[in-house]
Amino acid sequence: MHEMGITQEVLTSVLEASQRAGATRINRVRLTVGGLTDVVPDSLQFAWECLTPGTPAEGAVLEIRETAGRSVCLECGTEFDHDKFDRRCPVPECGSFMSSVIQGNELRVDDVDVDLPETDASTDAT
Ligand SMILES: [Zn+2]
Repeated sequence: MHEMGITQEVLTSVLEASQRAGATRINRVRLTVGGLTDVVPDSLQFAWECLTPGTPAEGAVLEIRETAGRSVCLECGTEFDHDKFDRRCPVPECGSFMSSVIQGNELRVDDVDVDLPETDASTDAT
């Protein structure tokens, strides 16, 4: 299950970023997963629950937003949504196989909600 490795990478980068920000706890992480990737959101969720205990992200909610696959036909210029198995242009008189993906291959962290220590002391940014 390669979602475990992906989740580990996401968790590592989230932990590093929150550490740099001086956060004490991570409350929520929002991810966007493209519908053309072979990533299964349920598996990400499962991996998240396996990997976060004992880290500042323990108990943090993982919100996963899935985007549809979207391509532009290189012959007629039509933009269309599609799944990962069929990228053919839907325009009947075109039906071209030549298309370029414009959305659906992404896997990124959109935002992370954290708790900061409740001190007024201005912390050094480094
Ligand atoms: Zn077309």
